[in-house]
Amino acid sequence: MSNFDDRSRRDFLAASLAGASAGLFASSQSTAKGASEPGGKAAAKVRYAELLPSEFRTRLAERPIAYLPLGTLEWHGEHLPLGSDALQAEGLMVECARQFGGIVMPPIHLGPDRAKLTDDGKMLVGMDYADSTTPPRQLDGSCYWVPMGLHLLMVDAVLTQLKRAGFRAVFADGHGPSRWSWVDNIPEREARFGLRLFGVTKEISQQWKSQVDHAARNETSLMMHLRPELVDLSQLPQARSAWPQGVGGEDPRDASAAYGQECLQKSLELVRQMFVKAGLL
Ligand SMILES: [Zn+2]
Repeated sequence: MSNFDDRSRRDFLAASLAGASAGLFASSQSTAKGASEPGGKAAAKVRYAELLPSEFRTRLAERPIAYLPLGTLEWHGEHLPLGSDALQAEGLMVECARQFGGIVMPPIHLGPDRAKLTDDGKMLVGMDYADSTTPPRQLDGSCYWVPMGLHLLMVDAVLTQLKRAGFRAVFADGHGPSRWSWVDNIPEREARFGLRLFGVTKEISQQWKSQVDHAARNETSLMMHLRPELVDLSQLPQARSAWPQGVGGEDPRDASAAYGQECLQKSLELVRQMFVKAGLL
C-alpha cells in the first residue's frame, strides 16, 4: 500500500474513531512490586492511573517522559499468562520510571500481527501459523489482533493526548510487530507531534534483551523475575524431545528468574544511555 493510501485510510479511520480511543486501553494491573519494596522502602508510584493530580504534576515537572507498554492478549505457551507482553513491557517501564523518572501509561493490549485466511475461511494470526504450531491453528486465548491502520491511529491518539498533557518524550516497546511499527514511524511522528520518541531501534536491537523471543527462554525468564506467581513451567512437556507448541526461541525449560533479572538490567541500561544521549538525564 502506498503512503498516500495509508495516510488516507488513517484519516478516514480517525474520523470514525474520534472519542473512542479511551475505550481501547485495558486497565493496568499492579505488579508483584506493589506499594513497598523488599526491606520496607516505599516504591515510587509511577503508574499514570494511580497518580493524584499533585503527584502527576510533580513527576511531570521532574521528568516529562511517558512510557507506553505495547502488549497483547496472546498465547505464550501453556506456561505463561496471556498478557505476558504487556506485563513484561510494563515491568521494565516501571523500573525505568523509578530509576530515571517519568510516568507509565496503561498498556495497550491490542496490536498488529501477520494474518492469513485458511481454506475454511478462518483467520490465523501471528503464532497461529509459526513453525512450532503443529498443525497451524487458532491458539487458545489469543485475542489482540487489529489491522495496522487501526494500531497506527491508536498510537497517534495516545501521542496526541500525551502531548496535550505536557509530556515531551515517549518510550514505547513490547509485542514484536507493535515495536517494529513504533520504531519505523519515529521520525515521521517526532516531526508531526513535536515529541522526542524512543524505542528499540536498529542501533540497539542487537544488545536489547527484553522480549526478544516468543514465550521461550527470554520471555519466560523475564516473567519469572517480574511475576513468578503467574508462571507454571510444569505445564510444559517434560520430555526435551517434545518442543512446546507456539513457542519460538531457546528452550523455555532453561529459563530462570536470575537470567530474567540480568536481561532486564541490560535493557534498563540501554534506555538510560538513550536518555543521556538525548540530554534528558
Ligand atoms: Zn511476547
